[in-house]
Amino acid sequence: MSAAAPTLPAFDPRDPLSLDGLLDDEERLIRDTVRQYVREKFLPHVAGYFENGSLPETTGPELGQLGLLGMHLQGYGCAGASATAYGLTCLELEAGDSGLRSFCSVQGSLAMFAIYRWGSEEQRNQWLPAMATGDVIGCFGLTEPDFGSNPAGMRTSARRDGSDWILNGSKMWITNGSVADVAIVWARSKEGIIGFVVPAGTPGFSARDMTHKLSLRASITSELHLDDVRLPADAQLPDASGLSGPLSCLSEARFGIVFGSVGAARDCVQTTLDYVGTREVFDKPLAGYQLTQAKIADMAVELGKAQLLALHLGRLKDDGRIRPEQVSVGKLNNVREAIKIARQCRTLLGANGITLEYPVIRHANNLESVLTYEGTSEVHQLVIGEALTGVSAFR
Ligand SMILES: Cc1cc2nc3c(=O)[nH]c(=O)nc-3n(C[C@H](O)[C@H](O)[C@H](O)COP(=O)(O)OP(=O)(O)OC[C@H]3O[C@@H](n4cnc5c(N)ncnc54)[C@H](O)[C@@H]3O)c2cc1C
Repeated sequence: MSAAAPTLPAFDPRDPLSLDGLLDDEERLIRDTVRQYVREKFLPHVAGYFENGSLPETTGPELGQLGLLGMHLQGYGCAGASATAYGLTCLELEAGDSGLRSFCSVQGSLAMFAIYRWGSEEQRNQWLPAMATGDVIGCFGLTEPDFGSNPAGMRTSARRDGSDWILNGSKMWITNGSVADVAIVWARSKEGIIGFVVPAGTPGFSARDMTHKLSLRASITSELHLDDVRLPADAQLPDASGLSGPLSCLSEARFGIVFGSVGAARDCVQTTLDYVGTREVFDKPLAGYQLTQAKIADMAVELGKAQLLALHLGRLKDDGRIRPEQVSVGKLNNVREAIKIARQCRTLLGANGITLEYPVIRHANNLESVLTYEGTSEVHQLVIGEALTGVSAFR
């Protein structure tokens, strides 16, 4: 007698590879909570935020209340969630907008992580609890006008004056710079590159918004100026020495982008699936054309692969086994594929695809920034190339 064929679960076009089954209950709960926040509180207003070039001041406290700021850090008021749960959070936030995910990444993975990993116990106690609630906003100043991909060339200087430090220089493209209460600033000293915790009110410290952006508009981007900023010795991050300090923070933020970019792509694909089902061209729905289906099938395949890659890297990170080169693989692939998907979805929406009525052009434009920050695609190719060949080709 032949065995009865197993009953297959229904096919879900929103989860074609049944990846939901790879998550545990806690991960699903966190994901659903963030998804609901994005859908109910954020999406109704996002087009306005993008158009006006800002995010509301309530963003920090709202994300803090949900326990999302520095959520993968342990203690100091942080949620102590898994890396995978943090990744899923980034995915859902970026399904809303890359600007929203950037806010969470900069606060948790860059500013808070820098203090958590490289700061003194006093600095952790002073800053992290209020940053976890979103009452204190942080930024991360590494990039300079002439040094983005090559931060080793930075000119911002730190010199000793007695037991104090004096900082001079400028930083550019700093997310949340003008709204931050505290800036992590990396500077060149006699001892090499070191980091500082700089309260925004320190005399000589100023921030000015960068305007006319056509990408990541729902996010503040600023220049930081340091003009003879005098800091006490205990403002230095004591355990950071050399570029490994800032690079460790970037690796944390890149990990979030591996997931986040999937969120932007997923939102584009889902919007497009809805659109092609109702839009009629030449007397029948756009969904019924082979050219449309080829595009949609290819996008779903890439989206599924990107999701699997993100989850795999999440599991590696939770096991404490992830290498920076592997994060580079994830960032390179997932952002590159996400931006291709967003552009392809844009074609399927026709002229509607260029308006803010649909999220697609907003995601596509945002992903231009995501492609560039936290290491450009070319920088990640060079990182992976060096790991594979043993030869550095940066210079
Ligand atoms: C919206 C936004 C927000 C940002 N937020 C922050 C922030 O909060 N904090 C912060 O410190 N920075 C931030 N950045 C800066 C970001 O990290 C840099 O823009 C990025 O590192 C690239 O540097 P760059 O723009 O100077 O480009 P460049 O380094 O000048 O690169 C230009 C081009 O040259 C290529 N290139 C560079 N080196 C090589 C090489 N060796 N071989 C081949 N090609 C190469 C690059 O891939 C790129 O295509 C942000 C940027 C943006 C757009």
